[in-house]
Amino acid sequence: MAETKYIFVTGGVTSSLGKGIIAASLAKLLQARGYKTTIQKLDPYINVDPGTLNPYEHGECYVTDDGAETDLDLGHYERFLNVNTSQANNVTTGRIYQSVIEKERRGEFLGKTVQVVPHITNEIKERIQILGKSGDYDIVITEIGGTVGDIESLPYIESVRQLLWELGDNNAIVIHLTLVPYLSAAGELKTKPTQHSVKTLMESGIKADILVCRTEHELADDIRAKLASFCNVKREAVIQSIDASTIYDVPNLMLQEGLDTVALQKLALPEISEPNLTQWNQFLNRHKNPKNTVTIGLVGKYVELQDSYKSILEAFIHAGAENEVKVKVESIHSEYIDEETIASKISHLDGILVAPGFGERGIEGKIATVQYAREYGIPFLGICLGMQMAVIEYARNVLGLKDANSTEMNKNTSAPVIDIMEEQKNITHLGGTMRLGAWDCELKDDSLAFKVYRNILISERHRHRYEFNNSYKEQLKNAGLIPTGFNPETGLVEIVEIPEHPWFMGVQYHPEYKSTVANPHPLFVAFVKAALDYKTK
Ligand code: GLN
Repeated sequence: MAETKYIFVTGGVTSSLGKGIIAASLAKLLQARGYKTTIQKLDPYINVDPGTLNPYEHGECYVTDDGAETDLDLGHYERFLNVNTSQANNVTTGRIYQSVIEKERRGEFLGKTVQVVPHITNEIKERIQILGKSGDYDIVITEIGGTVGDIESLPYIESVRQLLWELGDNNAIVIHLTLVPYLSAAGELKTKPTQHSVKTLMESGIKADILVCRTEHELADDIRAKLASFCNVKREAVIQSIDASTIYDVPNLMLQEGLDTVALQKLALPEISEPNLTQWNQFLNRHKNPKNTVTIGLVGKYVELQDSYKSILEAFIHAGAENEVKVKVESIHSEYIDEETIASKISHLDGILVAPGFGERGIEGKIATVQYAREYGIPFLGICLGMQMAVIEYARNVLGLKDANSTEMNKNTSAPVIDIMEEQKNITHLGGTMRLGAWDCELKDDSLAFKVYRNILISERHRHRYEFNNSYKEQLKNAGLIPTGFNPETGLVEIVEIPEHPWFMGVQYHPEYKSTVANPHPLFVAFVKAALDYKTK
Protein backbone atom coordinates (compact mmCIF):
# COMPACT_ATOMS: atom_id res chain seq x y z
CA MET A 1 0.00 0.00 0.00
CA ALA A 2 1.23 3.47 -0.82
CA GLU A 3 0.79 5.77 2.14
CA THR A 4 0.21 5.11 5.80
CA LYS A 5 -3.23 6.18 6.98
CA TYR A 6 -3.85 7.84 10.32
CA ILE A 7 -6.64 7.50 12.83
CA PHE A 8 -6.75 10.02 15.66
CA VAL A 9 -8.65 9.16 18.80
CA THR A 10 -9.77 12.05 21.00
CA GLY A 11 -11.85 12.01 24.15
CA GLY A 12 -14.58 14.25 25.45
CA VAL A 13 -16.84 14.85 28.47
CA THR A 14 -14.68 13.08 31.06
CA SER A 15 -11.41 11.23 31.36
CA SER A 16 -11.19 7.48 32.07
CA LEU A 17 -13.60 6.52 29.29
CA GLY A 18 -11.21 3.87 28.05
CA LYS A 19 -9.73 5.49 24.93
CA GLY A 20 -6.81 3.09 25.17
CA ILE A 21 -9.06 0.04 25.07
CA ILE A 22 -11.11 1.40 22.17
CA ALA A 23 -7.93 2.23 20.26
CA ALA A 24 -6.46 -1.21 21.02
CA SER A 25 -9.71 -2.95 20.02
CA LEU A 26 -9.93 -1.11 16.72
CA ALA A 27 -6.27 -1.89 16.07
CA LYS A 28 -6.97 -5.54 16.86
CA LEU A 29 -9.81 -5.66 14.32
CA LEU A 30 -7.76 -3.95 11.63
CA GLN A 31 -4.84 -6.28 12.34
CA ALA A 32 -7.22 -9.26 12.22
CA ARG A 33 -8.28 -8.10 8.75
CA GLY A 34 -4.67 -8.13 7.60
CA TYR A 35 -3.67 -4.49 8.05
CA LYS A 36 -0.32 -3.79 9.69
CA THR A 37 -1.40 -1.52 12.50
CA THR A 38 0.27 0.21 15.42
CA ILE A 39 -0.87 2.59 18.11
CA GLN A 40 0.69 5.65 19.63
CA LYS A 41 -0.23 7.56 22.76
CA LEU A 42 0.34 11.30 23.16
CA ASP A 43 0.27 12.42 26.79
CA PRO A 44 -0.27 16.09 27.57
CA TYR A 45 1.68 16.20 30.84
CA ILE A 46 5.06 17.88 31.29
CA ASN A 47 6.95 14.91 32.72
CA VAL A 48 9.34 13.75 30.00
CA ASP A 49 8.08 10.23 30.62
CA PRO A 50 5.94 8.57 33.31
CA GLY A 51 9.05 6.97 34.86
CA THR A 52 9.20 9.59 37.58
CA LEU A 53 5.47 9.35 38.37
CA ASN A 54 4.13 7.61 41.44
CA PRO A 55 1.77 4.77 40.44
CA TYR A 56 -1.02 6.62 42.28
CA GLU A 57 -0.83 9.33 39.59
CA HIS A 58 -1.25 7.39 36.35
CA GLY A 59 -1.01 3.74 37.36
CA GLU A 60 1.78 1.42 36.35
CA CYS A 61 4.74 2.57 34.32
CA TYR A 62 5.00 0.20 31.35
CA VAL A 63 8.44 -0.63 29.99
CA THR A 64 9.16 -1.51 26.36
CA ASP A 65 11.95 -3.64 24.90
CA ASP A 66 13.92 -0.53 23.94
CA GLY A 67 13.80 0.66 27.56
CA ALA A 68 11.17 3.38 27.23
CA GLU A 69 9.20 4.06 30.41
CA THR A 70 5.71 4.60 29.07
CA ASP A 71 2.01 4.99 29.73
CA LEU A 72 0.17 1.84 30.75
CA ASP A 73 -1.98 2.04 27.60
CA LEU A 74 1.03 0.74 25.67
CA GLY A 75 0.65 -2.41 27.73
CA HIS A 76 -2.88 -2.82 26.37
CA TYR A 77 -1.61 -2.26 22.84
CA GLU A 78 1.00 -5.01 23.20
CA ARG A 79 -1.37 -7.40 24.96
CA PHE A 80 -4.04 -6.96 22.28
CA LEU A 81 -1.82 -6.83 19.21
CA ASN A 82 1.10 -9.02 20.27
CA VAL A 83 3.39 -6.49 18.59
CA ASN A 84 6.21 -4.69 20.39
CA THR A 85 5.96 -0.96 20.99
CA SER A 86 8.87 1.42 21.50
CA GLN A 87 9.80 4.93 22.58
CA ALA A 88 8.14 6.29 19.43
CA ASN A 89 4.77 4.95 20.59
CA ASN A 90 4.55 7.26 23.60
CA VAL A 91 5.23 10.98 23.48
CA THR A 92 4.64 13.52 26.25
CA THR A 93 4.50 17.30 26.25
CA GLY A 94 7.68 17.23 28.33
CA ARG A 95 9.51 15.29 25.64
CA ILE A 96 8.21 17.60 22.89
CA TYR A 97 9.34 20.73 24.71
CA GLN A 98 12.65 19.16 25.71
CA SER A 99 13.41 18.40 22.09
CA VAL A 100 12.32 21.84 20.82
CA ILE A 101 14.36 23.59 23.52
CA GLU A 102 17.43 21.49 22.70
CA LYS A 103 17.04 22.45 19.02
CA GLU A 104 16.77 26.09 20.03
CA ARG A 105 19.98 25.82 22.09
CA ARG A 106 21.75 24.29 19.11
CA GLY A 107 20.64 27.27 17.05
CA GLU A 108 18.54 25.22 14.68
CA PHE A 109 15.78 27.81 14.43
CA LEU A 110 18.11 30.35 12.80
CA GLY A 111 17.23 33.37 14.90
CA LYS A 112 13.46 32.90 14.74
CA THR A 113 11.15 33.35 17.71
CA VAL A 114 10.29 29.83 18.90
CA GLN A 115 6.53 29.44 19.43
CA VAL A 116 3.83 26.88 20.18
CA VAL A 117 2.62 27.31 16.60
CA PRO A 118 4.52 26.32 14.49
CA HIS A 119 7.49 24.92 16.45
CA ILE A 120 5.75 22.83 19.07
CA THR A 121 3.04 21.72 16.66
CA ASN A 122 5.66 20.82 14.03
CA GLU A 123 7.49 18.70 16.59
CA ILE A 124 4.21 16.96 17.50
CA LYS A 125 3.38 16.32 13.83
CA GLU A 126 6.84 14.91 13.25
CA ARG A 127 6.47 12.55 16.23
CA ILE A 128 3.06 11.42 14.99
CA GLN A 129 4.47 10.62 11.57
CA ILE A 130 7.64 8.82 12.70
CA LEU A 131 5.82 5.48 12.88
CA GLY A 132 3.98 6.07 9.61
CA LYS A 133 7.14 7.03 7.76
CA SER A 134 8.97 3.91 8.96
CA GLY A 135 7.10 2.05 6.23
CA ASP A 136 6.24 -0.71 8.69
CA TYR A 137 2.56 0.12 9.05
CA ASP A 138 -0.53 0.53 6.92
CA ILE A 139 -2.41 2.30 9.68
CA VAL A 140 -1.24 4.30 12.71
CA ILE A 141 -3.77 4.98 15.44
CA THR A 142 -2.82 7.97 17.58
CA GLU A 143 -4.57 8.38 20.89
CA ILE A 144 -4.55 11.92 22.29
CA GLY A 145 -4.50 11.76 26.08
CA GLY A 146 -6.72 14.03 28.16
CA THR A 147 -10.06 15.54 27.27
CA VAL A 148 -10.80 18.07 24.51
CA GLY A 149 -11.06 21.55 25.91
CA ASP A 150 -8.19 20.99 28.36
CA ILE A 151 -5.55 23.71 28.15
CA GLU A 152 -2.83 21.04 27.97
CA SER A 153 -4.36 19.30 24.96
CA LEU A 154 -4.59 22.38 22.73
CA PRO A 155 -1.25 22.00 20.88
CA TYR A 156 -2.09 18.36 20.14
CA ILE A 157 -5.55 19.17 18.85
CA GLU A 158 -4.10 21.94 16.68
CA SER A 159 -1.48 19.51 15.33
CA VAL A 160 -4.22 17.02 14.46
CA ARG A 161 -6.15 19.80 12.70
CA GLN A 162 -3.11 20.69 10.61
CA LEU A 163 -2.33 17.07 9.80
CA LEU A 164 -5.92 16.35 8.70
CA TRP A 165 -5.59 19.22 6.27
CA GLU A 166 -2.10 18.27 5.09
CA LEU A 167 -2.82 14.57 4.63
CA GLY A 168 -6.16 15.17 2.93
CA ASP A 169 -9.48 13.36 2.84
CA ASN A 170 -9.40 9.58 3.21
CA ASN A 171 -5.89 9.61 4.65
CA ALA A 172 -6.65 10.63 8.20
CA ILE A 173 -9.79 10.52 10.32
CA VAL A 174 -10.90 11.42 13.83
CA ILE A 175 -12.73 9.16 16.23
CA HIS A 176 -14.18 11.01 19.18
CA LEU A 177 -14.94 9.03 22.31
CA THR A 178 -17.63 10.49 24.55
CA LEU A 179 -19.94 9.61 27.40
CA VAL A 180 -23.70 9.26 27.07
CA PRO A 181 -24.81 9.35 30.69
CA TYR A 182 -28.00 7.77 32.01
CA LEU A 183 -30.08 9.89 34.37
CA SER A 184 -32.00 7.44 36.50
CA ALA A 185 -34.37 10.12 37.86
CA ALA A 186 -35.42 10.91 34.29
CA GLY A 187 -34.99 7.32 33.12
CA GLU A 188 -33.15 8.65 30.07
CA LEU A 189 -29.85 8.62 28.24
CA LYS A 190 -28.58 12.14 27.67
CA THR A 191 -26.86 13.31 24.47
CA LYS A 192 -26.14 16.91 25.47
CA PRO A 193 -22.63 16.33 26.95
CA THR A 194 -21.67 14.65 23.67
CA GLN A 195 -23.08 17.51 21.61
CA HIS A 196 -21.06 19.97 23.68
CA SER A 197 -17.90 18.00 23.42
CA VAL A 198 -18.22 17.65 19.64
CA LYS A 199 -18.81 21.39 19.53
CA THR A 200 -15.63 22.02 21.54
CA LEU A 201 -13.74 19.92 19.02
CA MET A 202 -15.30 21.94 16.16
CA GLU A 203 -14.16 25.19 17.78
CA SER A 204 -10.65 23.88 17.28
CA GLY A 205 -11.41 23.22 13.64
CA ILE A 206 -11.87 19.46 13.86
CA LYS A 207 -14.94 17.57 12.76
CA ALA A 208 -15.28 14.10 14.28
CA ASP A 209 -15.78 11.39 11.65
CA ILE A 210 -16.87 8.70 14.08
CA LEU A 211 -18.41 8.94 17.54
CA VAL A 212 -17.81 6.16 20.01
CA CYS A 213 -20.31 6.56 22.83
CA ARG A 214 -19.58 5.04 26.20
CA THR A 215 -22.83 4.04 27.85
CA GLU A 216 -24.25 1.83 30.57
CA HIS A 217 -27.43 1.17 28.55
CA GLU A 218 -28.12 0.23 24.93
CA LEU A 219 -28.42 3.25 22.65
CA ALA A 220 -31.87 3.08 21.04
CA ASP A 221 -32.30 4.07 17.39
CA ASP A 222 -33.74 7.47 18.19
CA ILE A 223 -30.76 8.35 20.39
CA ARG A 224 -28.35 7.23 17.68
CA ALA A 225 -30.23 9.30 15.09
CA LYS A 226 -30.17 12.33 17.36
CA LEU A 227 -26.46 11.98 18.04
CA ALA A 228 -25.79 11.61 14.31
CA SER A 229 -27.74 14.67 13.27
CA PHE A 230 -26.63 16.99 16.09
CA CYS A 231 -22.99 15.94 15.88
CA ASN A 232 -22.71 15.90 12.10
CA VAL A 233 -21.76 12.28 11.61
CA LYS A 234 -23.31 9.51 9.52
CA ARG A 235 -25.82 7.30 11.29
CA GLU A 236 -23.50 4.25 10.98
CA ALA A 237 -20.66 6.29 12.46
CA VAL A 238 -22.41 6.44 15.84
CA ILE A 239 -20.83 3.53 17.65
CA GLN A 240 -22.12 2.26 20.95
CA SER A 241 -19.52 1.19 23.49
CA ILE A 242 -21.47 -0.43 26.27
CA ASP A 243 -19.89 -1.48 29.58
CA ALA A 244 -18.30 -4.90 29.17
CA SER A 245 -17.51 -7.52 31.79
CA THR A 246 -13.96 -7.77 30.49
CA ILE A 247 -11.85 -5.48 28.31
CA TYR A 248 -11.17 -8.51 26.11
CA ASP A 249 -14.83 -8.41 24.96
CA VAL A 250 -14.40 -4.96 23.47
CA PRO A 251 -12.96 -5.99 20.06
CA ASN A 252 -16.00 -8.22 19.45
CA LEU A 253 -18.37 -5.50 20.63
CA MET A 254 -16.71 -3.02 18.25
CA LEU A 255 -16.94 -5.57 15.45
CA GLN A 256 -20.69 -5.93 16.03
CA GLU A 257 -21.05 -2.15 15.95
CA GLY A 258 -19.02 -1.96 12.74
CA LEU A 259 -16.33 0.39 14.05
CA ASP A 260 -13.65 -1.17 11.83
CA THR A 261 -15.89 -1.11 8.75
CA VAL A 262 -16.78 2.58 9.13
CA ALA A 263 -13.14 3.45 9.78
CA LEU A 264 -11.99 1.58 6.66
CA GLN A 265 -14.70 3.24 4.54
CA LYS A 266 -13.68 6.69 5.76
CA LEU A 267 -10.06 5.87 4.96
CA ALA A 268 -11.04 4.51 1.53
CA LEU A 269 -9.44 1.18 2.36
CA PRO A 270 -10.88 -2.14 1.22
CA GLU A 271 -12.26 -4.54 3.81
CA ILE A 272 -9.77 -7.17 2.51
CA SER A 273 -11.26 -9.99 4.58
CA GLU A 274 -13.40 -10.71 7.60
CA PRO A 275 -11.38 -10.19 10.78
CA ASN A 276 -9.80 -13.46 11.86
CA LEU A 277 -10.39 -13.58 15.59
CA THR A 278 -10.22 -17.36 16.00
CA GLN A 279 -7.31 -17.39 18.44
CA TRP A 280 -8.70 -14.39 20.31
CA ASN A 281 -12.08 -16.06 20.74
CA GLN A 282 -10.49 -19.32 21.87
CA PHE A 283 -8.75 -17.34 24.59
CA LEU A 284 -12.02 -15.60 25.53
CA ASN A 285 -13.82 -18.90 25.67
CA ARG A 286 -11.24 -20.38 28.05
CA HIS A 287 -11.21 -17.18 30.10
CA LYS A 288 -14.98 -17.28 30.53
CA ASN A 289 -15.35 -20.99 31.20
CA PRO A 290 -12.79 -21.88 33.85
CA LYS A 291 -12.80 -25.41 35.24
CA ASN A 292 -11.28 -24.45 38.57
CA THR A 293 -10.28 -21.45 40.68
CA VAL A 294 -7.05 -20.49 42.39
CA THR A 295 -6.52 -17.63 44.81
CA ILE A 296 -3.28 -15.75 44.49
CA GLY A 297 -2.18 -13.01 46.86
CA LEU A 298 -0.67 -9.92 45.31
CA VAL A 299 1.38 -8.33 48.07
CA GLY A 300 2.36 -4.74 47.38
CA LYS A 301 2.09 -1.23 48.67
CA TYR A 302 0.04 0.36 45.89
CA VAL A 303 -2.79 -2.16 46.03
CA GLU A 304 -5.54 0.44 46.60
CA LEU A 305 -5.22 1.37 42.95
CA GLN A 306 -5.88 -1.48 40.49
CA ASP A 307 -3.93 0.28 37.74
CA SER A 308 -0.67 0.14 39.75
CA TYR A 309 -0.16 -3.51 38.90
CA LYS A 310 -2.04 -3.55 35.59
CA SER A 311 0.34 -5.80 33.65
CA ILE A 312 0.54 -8.34 36.50
CA LEU A 313 -3.26 -8.57 36.70
CA GLU A 314 -3.55 -8.98 32.93
CA ALA A 315 -0.76 -11.59 32.88
CA PHE A 316 -2.82 -13.60 35.40
CA ILE A 317 -5.84 -13.39 33.07
CA HIS A 318 -3.77 -14.77 30.18
CA ALA A 319 -2.18 -17.47 32.36
CA GLY A 320 -5.54 -18.36 33.91
CA ALA A 321 -7.12 -18.88 30.49
CA GLU A 322 -4.16 -21.00 29.43
CA ASN A 323 -4.67 -23.24 32.49
CA GLU A 324 -8.48 -23.05 32.21
CA VAL A 325 -8.69 -21.70 35.75
CA LYS A 326 -10.04 -18.51 37.18
CA VAL A 327 -7.28 -16.66 39.00
CA LYS A 328 -8.77 -14.74 41.90
CA VAL A 329 -6.19 -12.12 42.78
CA GLU A 330 -6.38 -10.94 46.37
CA SER A 331 -4.66 -7.61 46.84
CA ILE A 332 -2.86 -7.47 50.15
CA HIS A 333 -1.32 -4.31 51.49
CA SER A 334 2.24 -5.10 52.61
CA GLU A 335 2.18 -2.29 55.17
CA TYR A 336 -0.49 -4.09 57.18
CA ILE A 337 1.27 -7.44 57.33
CA ASP A 338 2.98 -8.24 60.61
CA GLU A 339 3.50 -11.25 62.85
CA GLU A 340 0.00 -11.05 64.23
CA THR A 341 -1.91 -10.56 60.98
CA ILE A 342 0.15 -12.64 58.60
CA ALA A 343 -1.54 -16.02 58.98
CA SER A 344 -5.03 -14.59 58.60
CA LYS A 345 -3.97 -12.67 55.51
CA ILE A 346 -2.04 -15.28 53.58
CA SER A 347 -2.37 -18.82 54.93
CA HIS A 348 -5.40 -19.57 52.71
CA LEU A 349 -3.66 -18.55 49.48
CA ASP A 350 -2.72 -20.99 46.70
CA GLY A 351 0.11 -18.77 45.50
CA ILE A 352 1.85 -15.58 46.56
CA LEU A 353 3.30 -12.86 44.37
CA VAL A 354 5.41 -10.17 46.00
CA ALA A 355 5.21 -7.13 43.77
CA PRO A 356 7.76 -4.70 42.36
CA GLY A 357 8.20 -1.37 44.09
CA PHE A 358 10.45 1.38 45.34
CA GLY A 359 11.39 2.66 48.76
CA GLU A 360 11.09 1.47 52.29
CA ARG A 361 7.36 1.60 52.95
CA GLY A 362 5.88 -1.86 53.48
CA ILE A 363 9.04 -3.86 52.93
CA GLU A 364 9.06 -5.64 56.30
CA GLY A 365 5.60 -7.00 55.44
CA LYS A 366 6.97 -8.24 52.13
CA ILE A 367 9.90 -9.96 53.85
CA ALA A 368 7.55 -11.63 56.35
CA THR A 369 5.39 -12.78 53.43
CA VAL A 370 8.34 -14.39 51.66
CA GLN A 371 9.29 -16.19 54.87
CA TYR A 372 5.75 -17.52 55.25
CA ALA A 373 5.60 -18.72 51.65
CA ARG A 374 9.02 -20.33 51.96
CA GLU A 375 8.35 -22.11 55.25
CA TYR A 376 4.85 -23.32 54.38
CA GLY A 377 5.70 -24.36 50.84
CA ILE A 378 3.22 -22.00 49.17
CA PRO A 379 4.10 -21.33 45.49
CA PHE A 380 5.97 -18.04 45.38
CA LEU A 381 6.89 -15.57 42.67
CA GLY A 382 8.88 -12.46 43.55
CA ILE A 383 9.17 -9.79 40.87
CA CYS A 384 11.97 -7.21 40.96
CA LEU A 385 11.67 -5.75 44.47
CA GLY A 386 9.87 -9.00 45.31
CA MET A 387 12.96 -10.99 44.27
CA GLN A 388 15.17 -8.65 46.26
CA MET A 389 12.97 -9.23 49.33
CA ALA A 390 13.35 -13.00 48.85
CA VAL A 391 17.14 -12.64 48.90
CA ILE A 392 17.03 -10.45 52.03
CA GLU A 393 14.66 -12.87 53.75
CA TYR A 394 16.94 -15.83 53.03
CA ALA A 395 20.03 -13.96 54.19
CA ARG A 396 18.34 -12.90 57.42
CA ASN A 397 16.50 -16.06 58.38
CA VAL A 398 18.58 -18.85 56.87
CA LEU A 399 22.11 -17.39 56.81
CA GLY A 400 21.47 -15.57 60.09
CA LEU A 401 22.62 -12.19 58.73
CA LYS A 402 20.05 -10.33 60.81
CA ASP A 403 20.99 -6.94 59.42
CA ALA A 404 20.77 -8.05 55.76
CA ASN A 405 19.12 -5.46 53.58
CA SER A 406 19.15 -3.57 50.31
CA THR A 407 21.18 -0.38 50.32
CA GLU A 408 18.06 1.24 48.89
CA MET A 409 16.46 0.80 52.33
CA ASN A 410 19.52 1.02 54.58
CA LYS A 411 22.70 2.56 53.19
CA ASN A 412 24.73 1.41 56.19
CA THR A 413 23.61 -2.21 56.45
CA SER A 414 26.41 -4.58 57.46
CA ALA A 415 25.08 -7.16 54.94
CA PRO A 416 24.17 -5.39 51.67
CA VAL A 417 22.86 -8.49 49.88
CA ILE A 418 21.10 -6.18 47.43
CA ASP A 419 23.27 -3.26 46.38
CA ILE A 420 23.32 -0.42 43.91
CA MET A 421 25.10 -1.23 40.65
CA GLU A 422 28.56 0.24 40.23
CA GLU A 423 27.53 2.24 37.15
CA GLN A 424 24.53 3.64 39.03
CA LYS A 425 26.57 5.07 41.89
CA ASN A 426 27.39 8.42 40.29
CA ILE A 427 23.99 9.02 38.74
CA THR A 428 22.20 12.00 40.22
CA HIS A 429 19.16 12.31 37.91
CA LEU A 430 16.22 10.00 38.60
CA GLY A 431 14.53 10.18 35.17
CA GLY A 432 15.35 7.43 32.66
CA THR A 433 18.52 6.33 34.44
CA MET A 434 17.63 2.87 35.80
CA ARG A 435 18.58 -0.44 34.18
CA LEU A 436 15.80 -0.37 31.62
CA GLY A 437 14.44 -2.49 28.79
CA ALA A 438 15.28 -5.90 27.41
CA TRP A 439 18.37 -7.78 28.61
CA ASP A 440 19.44 -11.30 27.82
CA CYS A 441 19.46 -13.88 30.56
CA GLU A 442 21.13 -17.29 30.44
CA LEU A 443 19.48 -20.10 32.37
CA LYS A 444 21.02 -23.08 34.12
CA ASP A 445 19.71 -26.20 32.42
CA ASP A 446 18.88 -28.00 35.67
CA SER A 447 16.69 -25.17 36.96
CA LEU A 448 12.98 -24.61 37.38
CA ALA A 449 13.42 -21.56 35.16
CA PHE A 450 14.66 -23.76 32.31
CA LYS A 451 11.68 -26.12 32.76
CA VAL A 452 9.40 -23.09 32.55
CA TYR A 453 10.98 -21.36 29.54
CA ARG A 454 12.32 -24.46 27.73
CA ASN A 455 15.12 -22.27 26.45
CA ILE A 456 18.63 -21.48 27.65
CA LEU A 457 18.69 -17.91 26.44
CA ILE A 458 15.77 -15.66 27.28
CA SER A 459 15.22 -11.92 27.10
CA GLU A 460 13.19 -9.99 29.66
CA ARG A 461 12.53 -6.35 30.50
CA HIS A 462 14.05 -4.57 33.47
CA ARG A 463 13.40 -1.46 35.53
CA HIS A 464 15.54 -1.16 38.63
CA ARG A 465 18.65 0.39 40.11
CA TYR A 466 19.64 -2.24 42.68
CA GLU A 467 20.93 -5.76 42.11
CA PHE A 468 21.76 -9.07 43.75
CA ASN A 469 25.19 -8.56 45.35
CA ASN A 470 27.48 -11.22 43.93
CA SER A 471 29.73 -11.17 47.00
CA TYR A 472 26.97 -13.11 48.79
CA LYS A 473 26.37 -15.53 45.92
CA GLU A 474 28.36 -18.52 47.23
CA GLN A 475 27.09 -18.14 50.78
CA LEU A 476 23.45 -17.99 49.70
CA LYS A 477 23.91 -20.79 47.20
CA ASN A 478 25.49 -23.09 49.77
CA ALA A 479 22.55 -22.38 52.06
CA GLY A 480 20.03 -23.37 49.37
CA LEU A 481 19.03 -20.17 47.54
CA ILE A 482 20.26 -20.97 44.05
CA PRO A 483 20.93 -18.37 41.37
CA THR A 484 19.72 -19.94 38.10
CA GLY A 485 19.65 -17.08 35.60
CA PHE A 486 22.51 -14.72 34.77
CA ASN A 487 23.12 -11.76 32.54
CA PRO A 488 25.65 -13.29 30.10
CA GLU A 489 27.63 -10.04 29.78
CA THR A 490 27.82 -8.84 33.35
CA GLY A 491 27.25 -12.01 35.36
CA LEU A 492 24.50 -10.28 37.32
CA VAL A 493 22.05 -12.68 38.96
CA GLU A 494 18.59 -12.39 37.41
CA ILE A 495 16.80 -15.38 38.97
CA VAL A 496 16.93 -17.14 42.33
CA GLU A 497 15.22 -20.42 43.23
CA ILE A 498 14.87 -22.80 46.18
CA PRO A 499 14.94 -26.36 44.78
CA GLU A 500 13.76 -27.73 48.15
CA HIS A 501 10.54 -25.74 47.83
CA PRO A 502 7.61 -26.92 45.63
CA TRP A 503 7.73 -23.72 43.52
CA PHE A 504 9.81 -20.72 44.51
CA MET A 505 11.20 -18.14 42.09
CA GLY A 506 12.44 -14.61 42.40
CA VAL A 507 13.14 -12.71 39.18
CA GLN A 508 14.94 -9.40 38.94
CA TYR A 509 13.11 -8.57 35.69
CA HIS A 510 9.43 -7.92 34.92
CA PRO A 511 7.89 -10.90 33.10
CA GLU A 512 4.44 -9.26 33.28
CA TYR A 513 5.31 -6.73 30.55
CA LYS A 514 5.68 -9.44 27.94
CA SER A 515 2.49 -11.40 28.52
CA THR A 516 -0.04 -11.08 25.70
CA VAL A 517 -3.30 -12.78 24.72
CA ALA A 518 -1.51 -14.60 21.91
CA ASN A 519 1.54 -15.41 24.06
CA PRO A 520 0.69 -15.82 27.74
CA HIS A 521 3.93 -15.51 29.69
CA PRO A 522 5.40 -18.97 30.51
CA LEU A 523 6.38 -17.90 34.02
CA PHE A 524 2.84 -16.81 34.88
CA VAL A 525 1.42 -19.92 33.22
CA ALA A 526 3.71 -22.14 35.30
CA PHE A 527 3.05 -20.19 38.50
CA VAL A 528 -0.74 -20.51 38.10
CA LYS A 529 -0.28 -24.21 37.36
CA ALA A 530 1.81 -24.56 40.55
CA ALA A 531 -0.91 -22.78 42.52
CA LEU A 532 -3.48 -25.19 41.09
CA ASP A 533 -1.32 -28.21 42.01
CA TYR A 534 -0.85 -26.80 45.51
CA LYS A 535 -4.59 -26.30 45.89
CA THR A 536 -5.55 -29.76 44.69
CA LYS A 537 -2.92 -31.49 46.85
N1 GLN B 1 13.47 -0.56 44.03
C1 GLN B 1 14.15 -1.65 43.45
C2 GLN B 1 15.30 -1.19 42.56
O1 GLN B 1 15.36 -0.07 42.14
C3 GLN B 1 13.19 -2.53 42.66
C4 GLN B 1 12.53 -1.85 41.50
C5 GLN B 1 11.31 -2.57 40.98
O2 GLN B 1 10.71 -3.39 41.69
N2 GLN B 1 10.89 -2.25 39.77
O3 GLN B 1 16.19 -1.96 42.30
